[in-house]
Amino acid sequence: MTETIDFHPLAASVQPVFTTVLDRSPHEPEFHQAVHEVLHSIAPVLEEHPEYVEGGILERLVEPERQIMFRVPWVDDAGRLQVNRGYRIQFSSVLGPYKGGLRFHPSVNLSIIKFLGFEQIFKNALTGQGIGGGKGGSDFDPHGRSDAEVMRFCQSFMNELYRHLGEHTDVPAGDIGVGGREIGYLFGQYRKVTNRHESGMFTGKGTGWGGAEVRTEATGYGAVFFAQEMLAVHNESFEGKRVGISGSGNVAIYAIEKATQLGATAVTASDSSGYVVDDAGIDLALLRQLKEVERARIVEYANRRPSARFVENGSVWDVPVDIAIPSATQNEVSAAEAQTLIANGVRAVSEGANMPCVPEAVDAFQKAGVLFAPGKAANAGGVATSALEMSQNASRQRWSFADSENKLREIMGDIHDAAFRAAERYGTPGDYVAGANIAGFERVANAMLAQGVI
Ligand code: NDP
Repeated sequence: MTETIDFHPLAASVQPVFTTVLDRSPHEPEFHQAVHEVLHSIAPVLEEHPEYVEGGILERLVEPERQIMFRVPWVDDAGRLQVNRGYRIQFSSVLGPYKGGLRFHPSVNLSIIKFLGFEQIFKNALTGQGIGGGKGGSDFDPHGRSDAEVMRFCQSFMNELYRHLGEHTDVPAGDIGVGGREIGYLFGQYRKVTNRHESGMFTGKGTGWGGAEVRTEATGYGAVFFAQEMLAVHNESFEGKRVGISGSGNVAIYAIEKATQLGATAVTASDSSGYVVDDAGIDLALLRQLKEVERARIVEYANRRPSARFVENGSVWDVPVDIAIPSATQNEVSAAEAQTLIANGVRAVSEGANMPCVPEAVDAFQKAGVLFAPGKAANAGGVATSALEMSQNASRQRWSFADSENKLREIMGDIHDAAFRAAERYGTPGDYVAGANIAGFERVANAMLAQGVI
């Protein structure tokens, strides 16, 4: 994204807030994009609820409670000094401790972490659980780094961040580039520097040391459950459908698994080097071996699977599918790619990633009558299951896989219904973008009003 985004004008009740955001936080295009979408959706709510305007809810909501940026020095295997930048944006604690993942990717900057933290406020509110919104990360790139280098980086990162975390303060989890390996190193260093085995200060932990069953699977499974709910409203299902998925990380792998279990054929996976098409259905065991164990590039999948082909230069969205689950990164589905998906007959799009579809793509899907689930709702299963992990840590209980998956399914159903009803209440039936923003906003705004000006 660039600064040349042409944002359409907003209602008079919200435009001044957006103008302030543009002035106060210039050069943060992803953050502007996320704020613009929410302000657009909630303008009708403000007309019915002047108390939100009088209470200055919006002016406060768009400004993070706290922004932390820090130096992360570490030494690589060749003995060279490396310096990265660390971030933690503690956006809103009105509903509970700050909660949101850590992203390690070279593209990470303040704008990206702020957009993710802002989205997280409403997503977490939608889950109905007691969790605030935050996000963090670093421009560190784990690709091609040895385990020892990743460990030294994680330890240095936590040497600074630990003082801002805690089970009642701020509870991180994984995101792009932060999986089981990184969480282990980060948790270990927190334990060392604080002298506390504080299980509830991090979620996504290994199931052998405080992690919850289904947390690893939750975001991908949840994005499929949400799509299942949308389809069910129209008496449709995953059975016999072709599903297109981008990415080949945590979210993508488990979206593929659940879609396949529901009788669909998942035909694509990708990474930043290209994509694979496998009309026989993605072989999950092979994909997991390559991505979770060997940390290989996606071309290797096609090298080892006769039914698959690798495409280096092209778009994964050129492949005709009935259901699309973008699960890689923000702004990965352009307006042109949305048009291709529509022309190829896509029926539903469920955002596994955060904000993967550009605004024009979202508009195109909605105008074409494609069922569209925004990430805020569709990928909330991850953080919802993180909250279940926090509950289990606090009560020192362990739930079974089946119980945890049933709870996740129930939560995704509730999120779907909350978004669906909110959209209907405000006269935009079937608009899950508006519905999710409104349902999340109402819960946050009411809590802010009740707790006074802080
Ligand atoms: P992973 O790091 O496990 O996987 C990310 C995948 O997306 C990789 O295949 C990666 O390829 C690809 N990718 C990342 N950035 C780019 C890029 N700029 N261009 C092309 N491909 C890219 O991350 P997750 O699966 O955890 O996260 C994926 C998305 O889901 C993110 O938007 C994240 O914010 C969102 N999300 C994740 C949750 C979770 O629980 N993990 C919860 C809610 C949302 P490569 O290896 O080549 O970089």
